[in-house]
Order: sequence, then C-alpha cells, then structure tokens
Amino acid sequence: MEDRGTKVVLDFGAGFADGAEFFGSGIEPRLVNGAGDLFEFGLLPQIQGLYSEKALQNTPLRYSAPEVDAVVLSHFHWDHTGRIGYVDPRIPVYCGETTSLIHEAYSDSTGSPLDDHPVKKFRTGDRFRIGPMEFEPIHVDHSIPGAYGFLVRTGEGTLAYTGDFRFHGPAGSMTEDFVAAAGREPPSLLLTEGTRVSDEEGGRNTSEKEVLREATKMVGGTKSLVFSTFRGNDVDRINTFYQACETAGRRLVVSMKMAILLEKLKRDGGLRVPRVGKEVDVYVRRKRTGRLDDSDYYPWERPFLNSGMSALEVRKKQAGVFLHLEAWNFPELIDIRPERGGTYIHAATEAFNEEGEREDAVIRNWIDHVGFRYAQLHASGHAPGRQVGDLVRRIGPKKVVPIHTEHPMLFRSFGRGMNWKLVIPTKGKPIPIAG
Ligand SMILES: [Zn+2]
Ligand SMILES: [Zn+2]
Repeated sequence: MEDRGTKVVLDFGAGFADGAEFFGSGIEPRLVNGAGDLFEFGLLPQIQGLYSEKALQNTPLRYSAPEVDAVVLSHFHWDHTGRIGYVDPRIPVYCGETTSLIHEAYSDSTGSPLDDHPVKKFRTGDRFRIGPMEFEPIHVDHSIPGAYGFLVRTGEGTLAYTGDFRFHGPAGSMTEDFVAAAGREPPSLLLTEGTRVSDEEGGRNTSEKEVLREATKMVGGTKSLVFSTFRGNDVDRINTFYQACETAGRRLVVSMKMAILLEKLKRDGGLRVPRVGKEVDVYVRRKRTGRLDDSDYYPWERPFLNSGMSALEVRKKQAGVFLHLEAWNFPELIDIRPERGGTYIHAATEAFNEEGEREDAVIRNWIDHVGFRYAQLHASGHAPGRQVGDLVRRIGPKKVVPIHTEHPMLFRSFGRGMNWKLVIPTKGKPIPIAG
C-alpha cells in the first residue's frame, strides 16, 4: 500500500503452489543469489528499498536504504510470513500480541522469519498510525490464534483487509466483529481472501466442534495407541484433542516444538492452553547418540527432557496415550512398535494435488504397516465460498479485490444485483483505493 509517500506491505508470505513449476522435487533456490532465483520467475516482486543487502547479493536489484516503512502482519502462517526473512531488517514488523508470542516460540527453537526485525505489537481495540495511514486491527477466527483483519484509513478512503478467516471455529464471533466494524465503515476497497470459494455450494463445512465430537468417539473406541498428524500451531486443534483425551482418560503427548509454543502462549490471558508437564506430556525423540543424554539435545529442548516420554514409555502406556506425530516423524513408530488395532487421525487438509496424493499414499503405507485404522478428520481454517459471499455483501464495499485464491473470477457470482466492482489484481499494476 502507498499513501502520500508512505509505503506498507500487508503480509509477505510464500505461496504454497507459487513456483511449483520450477522449484520443489528436490530443486531449491540457491542461497548464494539471495532472492535472485525467486526474482527470475517473478516469485518475489522487484521492489526498491524493501529487501536486505543479503537478499540482494548477486541479484540485478541494487541495495538501497529502506523505502518501505513497515510490514503489517495478519497472522503467523508461512504463506503470510515466509518471505519476511528477505526484507531489510531495519523495516519494522507490526503484529498482534499473540503473534509476537508465537514468533518468540519459533525464535527460541527453530528460528522465525521475524528474527532481526523490530517487532511492534498491537491488540484489538488499538489504532496505530504509519505515516498518514491509520490502522485499526480487528481479530478474526482462523486456524492459528492471534489472526487479524484490518481497516486502513487512507487519504483516498478506507481499505478493509480480511486476512485469513472462518466463522466455524471456536472464535467465530471474532470474525463477526470484523464484519460488523467493516460494514459500519463501509470501505472503498475490500481486500479479501478466497481460499475456498470454489467449494461446492451446499458442500460439507466441518466445524471444530464436530471434530471434537468425532475425535471423542474415535479416542473412546480405541483400545491401543491413538496418534495424529495436525498442524503444530493450531491451538484450537490442540485443545480439541486435549478435551477428547480428558473425556477418554488418555494423555495427550506433544512434540517439543509444540511444547515450547504452549509454554509461551500461557502468558496470553485471552487463550486457554493445556499446561506442559501437568496436562500434556512431551515426546522425546532419540537424537545423535540415541541414549537420551542431555548433550544430545539443543538447550531449548533440555527443559522438556524431565517431563518427557520416550518411545519405550509410549509403548508401555500405549492404551492411555494420544500422540501428536508429524508425518516426517513416522519412523518413530519403528521404536514405539504399537500393537495393531490402534487409530490414526489425519487431522489436516485432504490431498488436493498429485504431490499431496503421493504423500498421502506414503502415510497410508505406514498406517497399514502398523495395522492401524486411518481416519480423516479436519475443520478448515477458511470460510467456504457462500460465507465469503455473505461477508462481501454484509460489508458492502465499493470495490472488491480477491486475493489468496486460485479462483478470483468466482467472486463475480457474489455480486449479482450489488453495487460493487470486482477488480482482479494483476502483477505490477497498481489498484487505486477510490474511483
Ligand atoms: Zn492462515
Ligand atoms: Zn493464508
């Protein structure tokens, strides 16, 4: 966004499918060229005064002092943060208080894209200025805590940006708050995500509550181990499985990365998270020597060793354990050697492309190998098409710009009889807020 000489970037992430024609399948951009290998395919915009010296090393773009005033972050998902590491570290990142705690958890463990940047925190109810622009952040419900939409008041009128949102999570009323505030404005331009606009009309939209109901049945009906793959920063899902375990008298066992996140989020008064060591245990993978020595682990991992559970302990107590296990940690099953007849819950999006189908086939092979039942159970982080359409109608902007979607043209169907203009963004072409 640019207003009277001030420039702000709203989110700066890595597209999940962006660049799949050139990278992936073992082909990666080279570090020696900074952002250059991404510039080559238009995977990053060549903007003067945005990138760090290191990002521009050996690229056609010359380094110059920052001309961009800030990055304003809606939430801590990779497709919104993933390219911030290329941004000049002198440019501050504005984010919600919860997002800054999630950033700290990553920073203390595997690293965060916000490392090296000044982090400026906001919360719902705040308003802050960046140059002549006024930002009003308003919380929304999404599959990670601390997600925001924004009303940005500029010299040309108000821009409303939804960030990523849904209505069917435990905090659905937060998205209602955003819609109400945006509708009172109403904005000249609405920038909205449309991840699921192509979902079939009337198709199923599983809520987190339904995930809890189904998970409780599955956990209660299993005699041996239950394990599940789900996104480690989806706190709603952690709470769902924690509650299902409470009902069934099982113990939720999480990874060290999830444990450090839960420890940080304890400090967030607005969130309820299970307490590490008291309500959930931590799985301790063997590393280096394989002898579970302190020296086998990074300093941030060591505090969890005492309340930790090894593969052997999980095997001993398997009828009382619900283990969070990412697919890349499936080889742990070789050490755990669970009894046949357990349940595996794939609590993530179903495969939607060939690569995902290949990964799913590998997961199923592992599940067959241990003789477990495979169950698919997930609530999306995004609203389905008809609810996105409702949101647009209720906000009533003059102009709608769909982003974060592979089907922007589908927004046309939301506009029947309405008085707004649909603008499909084109790379490199500015869109005025008014007119
Ligand atoms: Zn997201
Ligand atoms: Zn997203």
